[in-house]
Amino acid sequence: MKEAAPKLLILDRDGVINEDRPDFVKSPEEWVPIPGSLEAVSELSRAGYLLVLATNQSAIGRGIIDMAVLNAIHAKLHRAVAELGGHIDAIFFCPHAPDAGCACRKPAPGMVLDIAKRFHVPPADCLMVGDSLRDLQAVAAAGGKPLLVRTGNGARTEAKGDLPAGTQVFDNLAAVAQWLLKPRTHPDAPARDV
Ligand SMILES: [Mg+2]
Ligand SMILES: [Zn+2]
Repeated sequence: MKEAAPKLLILDRDGVINEDRPDFVKSPEEWVPIPGSLEAVSELSRAGYLLVLATNQSAIGRGIIDMAVLNAIHAKLHRAVAELGGHIDAIFFCPHAPDAGCACRKPAPGMVLDIAKRFHVPPADCLMVGDSLRDLQAVAAAGGKPLLVRTGNGARTEAKGDLPAGTQVFDNLAAVAQWLLKPRTHPDAPARDV
């Protein structure tokens, strides 16, 4: 019998889980969760979702923060999720500056493809939540499904338009969780008898 693939949800960090800052999140103190996002993450985690972050952190490549600071920020994130009974399975980040020409900085699909490989999920089954066009483009380029939230830059991203085909739009991460966990619309739910 074929084993069901794990349910994997990829999340952008800034503007999805925590408030975005145009001047970068430079310390654990500047990492401020968006209301309801940690509860949503924890709910999805307890429901069996693998949750993996894919975040551009060019503040590293620009020399604005170092790895010790990024690790301290992510330690705070992990702790906050754990306090609500949830678990982030991994954090993938691109540390490179925008002009480095790397394969991992979104909108390139490198991180999404790496995550799919690491967690043995076909890229076509990858869902990714983001607030910027480059998040949606990264998952679309990998062959997965883009989910846009209106938090962070999301409302502006929606207003600008030209979203990748098949993009679904939600008010925030809590609304995404509600949609994924609602049995009737769950992607794995069996078709309804007619
Ligand atoms: Mg973002
Ligand atoms: Zn990179």
